[in-house]
Amino acid sequence: MSGRDDALPESYPIREAEEFHVAITQDVKQTLYGHLRPEYADREPEGSEYQPDRYEQGVIATLTRSTGDSRVTYIVEDVIPPETDDDVHIRDGSLKLSPAYRARAKDTIEHDPRKGIAYFHSHPGWSAYPSKPDLEADPMRLESDAEFLGADRPFGAGIIASRPRRETVEPEWSFRAYDFTAGTPPQRTEATAIRVLGASPIERVRDGPYLEKLSTAFSAQGPAGPGLGTGTVAHDSTLELWGERGQARLSGIRVAVVGCGGVGSLLAEQVARLGVGGAVFVDFDHLKEANLNRAYGASPEDARSNVRKAELARDIAEKAATAPGFQARAVHGSVVERGNDDYSALGALLDCDVILNAADPHWVQKVIDRLAYAHLIPVISGGTHLRVNEETDELASGARSTVETAGPGLACLHCLEAWKQGDRSSGVVRDRQPPRDRADNGGLYVQREPGEADDGSDELRDPSVVTTNGMVASLMMERFHALIVGTSTSTFAGRQIYRPSTGEMKWLTTDGNRRTRCKDDCEKARTVGLGDYVDLDTGEDPDLRVENPDAR
Ligand SMILES: [Zn+2]
Ligand SMILES: [Zn+2]
Repeated sequence: MSGRDDALPESYPIREAEEFHVAITQDVKQTLYGHLRPEYADREPEGSEYQPDRYEQGVIATLTRSTGDSRVTYIVEDVIPPETDDDVHIRDGSLKLSPAYRARAKDTIEHDPRKGIAYFHSHPGWSAYPSKPDLEADPMRLESDAEFLGADRPFGAGIIASRPRRETVEPEWSFRAYDFTAGTPPQRTEATAIRVLGASPIERVRDGPYLEKLSTAFSAQGPAGPGLGTGTVAHDSTLELWGERGQARLSGIRVAVVGCGGVGSLLAEQVARLGVGGAVFVDFDHLKEANLNRAYGASPEDARSNVRKAELARDIAEKAATAPGFQARAVHGSVVERGNDDYSALGALLDCDVILNAADPHWVQKVIDRLAYAHLIPVISGGTHLRVNEETDELASGARSTVETAGPGLACLHCLEAWKQGDRSSGVVRDRQPPRDRADNGGLYVQREPGEADDGSDELRDPSVVTTNGMVASLMMERFHALIVGTSTSTFAGRQIYRPSTGEMKWLTTDGNRRTRCKDDCEKARTVGLGDYVDLDTGEDPDLRVENPDAR
């Protein structure tokens, strides 16, 4: 088992985080609901008598941690089911867990330093507000667990109401982290939103949004919470499409835009006008005159002063934002850069709910691909590869624009053929070779040799056109609101390929069907929800250093 990924921000006590969330896959949530039996759970344990309002139910779950720059997320990674009637029972009017059940839970994770423990129980009725006995019993149980397992693991306690709220159709949650790292009594921190990512089996995806943020008894406004705001006059036209609830969902989303060039500058404009509550823009590049044919919102003066692309995108978004209280952040850095306080951008991504990736390098795609599964943050990726056939002076048949979505339950970027692993054991293939060299190589991308000259000029990149950038950005945004609001939900999984030479748009298929699941030998399914302990394969980014010679 590998250690904690050291490209992430150093671990810190939860009380120092600006936000605390819980994340869970739809799959694990359904298992949890099956044991706690909220009214409409679709996995009723067999032979049970269904009386949601009469008894509390309890179950133990395993937790992992995902550490962003300012947000900590506890991921409910799995459920440890009770085995006998005695494991969870009512005595003297209160819910008891048997010593054998609790010992089994500890044994299950003792040798896995990634994991900690959460005690969940249900409350009859609509409220998940913790009772005084809850606030006494849970930390007492967890204190002995922390003594046994070590205090630096994630520990917490959750309550789920047995009846759904009318407005949201979902029951209310509450979830408290208990942090024992500073001794006892533990520091208690309430989660302000529950992120549910869902798609398994794929058919269920089509019933609604892929990402939902559920309310807690301590919900916050804006992206720190589930999206409580309502639309303003600025949203009249979109409200007709997806209603107040849809607009509220968008206001509760913080999105990351990776790569703030031609596509990214358009994404900045669109996410802000659509009404997302917050955005983080990541790029290590500076604007140059050669970018002016495709950089939205950029003036010749911006190019002359070489403004940072991330800051330009942030400014575009702030001007265009329609959500009240919209917050944008610019990060001048690289998502593949490891352990560099000045330039590592991974921690900024882990503060976000969704990632829009407009950066082409295969290394970037590989890192974000892994992150999507390990940290439960879905990614929508898009780009264009244009080539000109120099004999006919027309677009080569390989020219294409592509858009993909990846996340738990969906095919990953690798299985969708968005990036390839190099043959050389040394690392990831990058696509910074001149297009003609690629052709000489049978179309395979090759890795640049260390120390090979590269002045970062545009000649090494595929040609880029403002029109295809517009199409890619819009396709990505179509998927984005499908993911969040649930419009046109059948379009958000898989890979779309547009070929400008024929004008056709097609889905990537396997045996004639759209590819929506990972291949059998893909490792992503084994890393779902493992958080900080999954190696994201970061390193020293040479491209970052070409553009920023001062980077150590
Ligand atoms: Zn209770
Ligand atoms: Zn895969």
